Amino acid sequence: MFTQHLANGITMLPTTERVLALTFDDGPDAEFTPRVLDILRGYGIRATFFCLGSQVADNPFVAKRIVSEGHLIANHTWSHPHAADVTVSQLLREVTNTSEAIAEATNERPCWFRPPFGELTDDQAAAISKAGYKVAFWTVDSLDWSGIEGPEIVANVVPALDNGAILLHHSAGNVAGISDALPYLIEVCQRLGYRFVRLDEVR
Ligand SMILES: [Zn+2]
Repeated sequence: MFTQHLANGITMLPTTERVLALTFDDGPDAEFTPRVLDILRGYGIRATFFCLGSQVADNPFVAKRIVSEGHLIANHTWSHPHAADVTVSQLLREVTNTSEAIAEATNERPCWFRPPFGELTDDQAAAISKAGYKVAFWTVDSLDWSGIEGPEIVANVVPALDNGAILLHHSAGNVAGISDALPYLIEVCQRLGYRFVRLDEVR
């Protein structure tokens, strides 16, 4: 059993300002993450990337690019396990090894953690907090991981837009639709008066 341990994590940014946080999970890869970075750079937008240690080890230069282009790099475990399949110490090892890989590739040590599938047992949540990580879930899942196309991704997100909303996207995996969706989504949000922030820009 798992719970979305909300006492130890956020699902929205604590703000009344008209801001949104774009978050991209499961990268960095060599194909989609660079495309996402190109799009964000074109709009001058900063986002948050929850990276897998295994992907950072395979694509250290893409991890470095995430940081050098002003985005927040964050921890998403090493191998993307379900909470029920790992003990507290196994999860902590995944997180620690991932932070070390990120630090090695980028010189940044992540402070934010997002559990794979949004799953975290009570004991795991307590251990992650004790290790000093802030936990972020999300307000709306774009469902881009399911292989849907750009218009569907946008349609999933727009109804949930609100001040401080955290938008869940992916920059690796089965996400061919993200390159189409992202420019349109950004422009819709901007037309509605939103600006984009990293998770650590609102406290
Ligand atoms: Zn994930």
